[in-house]
Amino acid sequence: MNLSTTDLPTLDHWIGGATYAGDSTRTAPVHDPALGTVSKHVRLGSTADVGAAVAAASAAYVTWGDTSIAARQTVMFRFRELFDARRDELAEILTSEHGKVLSDAAGEIARGLEVVEFACGMPHLIKGSYSENASTGVDVYSLKQPIGVVGIVSPFNFPAMVPLWFFPIAIAAGNTVVLKPSEKDPSPAIWMAALFTEAGLPDGVFNVVHGDKEAVDALLEHPEVASISFVGSTPIARYVYENGTRAGKRVQALGGAKNHMLVLPDADLDLVADSAVNAGFGSAGERCMAVSVVVAVDTIADELVAKIRDRMGKLVTGDGRRSCDMGPLITAEHRDKVAGYLDVAVADGCDLVVDGRDVDVDGAAEGFWLGPTLVDKVPTTSTVYTDEIFGPVLSVVRVSSYADGVALINAGPYGNGTAIFTNDGGAARRFQREVEIGMVGINVPIPVPVAYHSFGGWKASLFGDAKAYGPQGVEFFTREKAVTSRWLDPSHGGLNLGFPQNS
Ligand code: NAD
Repeated sequence: MNLSTTDLPTLDHWIGGATYAGDSTRTAPVHDPALGTVSKHVRLGSTADVGAAVAAASAAYVTWGDTSIAARQTVMFRFRELFDARRDELAEILTSEHGKVLSDAAGEIARGLEVVEFACGMPHLIKGSYSENASTGVDVYSLKQPIGVVGIVSPFNFPAMVPLWFFPIAIAAGNTVVLKPSEKDPSPAIWMAALFTEAGLPDGVFNVVHGDKEAVDALLEHPEVASISFVGSTPIARYVYENGTRAGKRVQALGGAKNHMLVLPDADLDLVADSAVNAGFGSAGERCMAVSVVVAVDTIADELVAKIRDRMGKLVTGDGRRSCDMGPLITAEHRDKVAGYLDVAVADGCDLVVDGRDVDVDGAAEGFWLGPTLVDKVPTTSTVYTDEIFGPVLSVVRVSSYADGVALINAGPYGNGTAIFTNDGGAARRFQREVEIGMVGINVPIPVPVAYHSFGGWKASLFGDAKAYGPQGVEFFTREKAVTSRWLDPSHGGLNLGFPQNS
């Protein structure tokens, strides 16, 4: 699409501590999903725009990478304080572009802020180790140093939290950043970059380039970009992993998900029903840790479905700026794609217990609405079961035993999150051992680890060796250098071509 001729604003990139228009003439519309209108356009960066951002980041790295830990921490703490004081501003921006209800936007921001607080502990996290007298008069020590300019590519569903999984840790460790946020809700990234500048971050340390495939490819190919942290759908994650590693970069690429919640007959079914509804329909199901499949052991399935259905009747779908429980989907196309699965469900013989197309909405008629939907007796051959739908569609699959439930979960291609609901500690312990999934909840439906653990799935939910944030995030954004040093006794023992041995 060519640059808009309407009066709508156009969102620029953020390069070198200021807005940057760049040379691309391509833009994309940004919607207000609850109104169904275009609120602005965003520039789609060219290869040259990415080059300008990387050049700014490379220049800033010379100084920032060499800035004292104390001076870097001062900026981090100021950023944390400003962010905390002004988080409501960000929540409003987030709701207006993503559509999630304000309380959910506030929750996303709180979880992102946790990572800023974790990164405030960087002096401790990047302490090296020291072995005195490893050999006579010889000391050996390890240092953790930054890796340089790092690239981040983020998805639409957490426009603040997912970038926050990475850039605070990268920057506190001495790296400089080029972030390519989702073109569907790009403003939170600019808000955070401007706030960081206000907190005293030197120009060029944190840059934002908007765009699509062209900008991502430019980051993947740029020789001065040391690493890529990607979060998005599995096909693009695989593409980014393959191309980034081929270009010699470190890559962590987090992909899609299909998360199961296994319910054993002894579980508290009221807790289960509350949890299934919260985790299935929060953020309109557009969460990589959403529960999309309830796996119920036969004997309790009818009772559980009835309890879930009753609770769904109380949910209000509407404009997230009002007091609603669930907002719209991100675009009309995505809403239509998700709604298409309801026709598939009927054709595949499922029970459409609650049809979200019939929803009464507290919001504008043109919003991208689809109400909470419950589909029971879903065959595992149906695309309703096999596809990541990424919308407010909760499926129920019935199994005859714990063993069948675990086998079903382990047979899936994804391995992001899962949960078991039971009052049997032995069963829960067995589940945590046997299930082949990266993040496990026990009577907790969305087990997103706190900032000082690491976030990431297994199998097609994560390509690469490092999870996001926590200890693995620190490892990803640093490289270790081992130094072997001798100061005393400058005499040497003469020529010896043998491999060095310690004495
Ligand atoms: P997406 O894959 O469409 O986009 C992610 C990013 O990739 C965006 O910045 C986008 O501009 C870019 N992109 C899109 N097409 C591209 C292409 N052909 N080449 C290069 N880059 C491209 O994902 P989305 O729709 O924004 O987000 C939803 C997906 O993200 C879901 O699959 C969800 O499960 C996943 N997700 C995963 C996690 C996780 O931690 N595993 C977290 C959040 C979201």
